[in-house]
Amino acid sequence: MQESSSRGLVLEQPLIFEQDTPGQCGVDLPEPPPVIDRLGGLERREPIGLPGLAEPTVVRHYTRLSQKNYGIDTVFYPLGSCTMKHNPRFNEKMARLSGLADIHPLQPESTVQGALELIDLTAHWLKTLTGMPAVAMSPAAGAHGEFCGLMAIRAALDDRGESRLRVLVPDSAHGTNPASAAACGFTVDPIPATSRGRVDLAAMKAKLGGDVAAVMLTNPNTCGLFEDQVMEIAEAIHRAGGYFYCDGANYNAIVGRVRVADLGVDAMHINLHKTFSTPHGGGGPGAGPTVLSAALAPFAPLPAVLHDGKGFRLIEHAAQSDGKPCGRLKGFHGQFGVFVRALAYMMSMGGDGLRQAAEDAVLNANYLLSELSADLTPSFAGPCMHEALFDDRFLKDSGVTTLDFAKALIDEGYHPMTMYFPLVVHGALLMEPTETESKATLDGFIATLRRLARQAKAGDAAAFRAAPQRTPRRRLDETTAARLPILRWTPPG
Ligand SMILES: *Cc1c(COP(=O)(O)O)cnc(C)c1O
Repeated sequence: MQESSSRGLVLEQPLIFEQDTPGQCGVDLPEPPPVIDRLGGLERREPIGLPGLAEPTVVRHYTRLSQKNYGIDTVFYPLGSCTMKHNPRFNEKMARLSGLADIHPLQPESTVQGALELIDLTAHWLKTLTGMPAVAMSPAAGAHGEFCGLMAIRAALDDRGESRLRVLVPDSAHGTNPASAAACGFTVDPIPATSRGRVDLAAMKAKLGGDVAAVMLTNPNTCGLFEDQVMEIAEAIHRAGGYFYCDGANYNAIVGRVRVADLGVDAMHINLHKTFSTPHGGGGPGAGPTVLSAALAPFAPLPAVLHDGKGFRLIEHAAQSDGKPCGRLKGFHGQFGVFVRALAYMMSMGGDGLRQAAEDAVLNANYLLSELSADLTPSFAGPCMHEALFDDRFLKDSGVTTLDFAKALIDEGYHPMTMYFPLVVHGALLMEPTETESKATLDGFIATLRRLARQAKAGDAAAFRAAPQRTPRRRLDETTAARLPILRWTPPG
């Protein structure tokens, strides 16, 4: 059987252009009446190249493509650092209310008072949960929030008349951290981790100086561990005249339990699509509101929603603002549909429910960690936060790599965990079960991982290297796919 053909009921689906049957059409249209040509000879002479297809073919094409989606609505998705949790349908229902879904950002303010209030109320929840005095709502993703926080830091430094251009970033940071710092014109100076998987405080202190603008720290960090010296880190960077940026992508582990302001944070983005429940992972909209300390609040970007005693207003221009805004990050006022989902989620959970979600997320991760510790190798001693990190020492001398192991999981019906990230451990396997998975689901996953680990140690490397066997495609040339993607269909010559 050819590798690319349909198997079982998993159907191979050619591009819609490859299914072109010239002359076919979904509708019967009468011949157009004669018209007077007013195009001055500029009319198109060639056909526009749309494929000819009947309606059932089009419906099947898109329905089959939709079935190739892999997501949290079909299966367990243990991808670390991503918080792939169930998104309650209540949030979706709220986001689809026509009064919220059908408004336009250019409507007069008087006609969207409710929407502005919703943005303001979402901001209020985020400020209350974090204890921070201000929040910039417009960033469209976590990485965009990092950019926002760093822009505010730059503006604050400019205001002080200081040009500090170095940003300290731990080795274990998500790739967006150094990328955002570089995009803001800073140079990135890495800080090593200790053998406990935390920032090396002494190494960090040794790097401090008058040219350091900020430290960017993820807490809990990407090893799934709480940075227990976070207060000392904050104090050290502040004493050196810099700012403390916290990557809040892992906020799901601490929401309702830790007041971020108490840690000395100056800026932190919150991935609403992770912690506060919006479907994500397919490149759809997210939101990365960025909470700011009193020191950075005046430099928050525009636009901002303000209540002036009479009603809600949008501050769009620096001249209308009391502060010294660092600029504008986005065309309009942020990802409104994501705000609706986040607010629906927060209000339906309540403060106590959010706290319990964080506790359950941590409990589930520790369940995986403890149940798997005998068969896989945990990277660090002690309990974890919301993700369990293992490395590839359990595969030593087996001839099986982390990649082979992950591919074998696909044949077992599980999406692999995050692999090879964070980079501070060898052959990382990072699992984030989230609070919404049941014990039964976790037990099934644990049993499969144990069986595979034992099979690998028993010397069955060939089976692992041949995996996956059951997917429509086997192993892809991922490097070429990433470096030389073919994004355009060209008709066969
Ligand atoms: C997801 C994530 C980011 C980036 O967030 P996006 O919304 O994908 O831009 C940054 N840091 C960490 C630790 C993350 O997990």
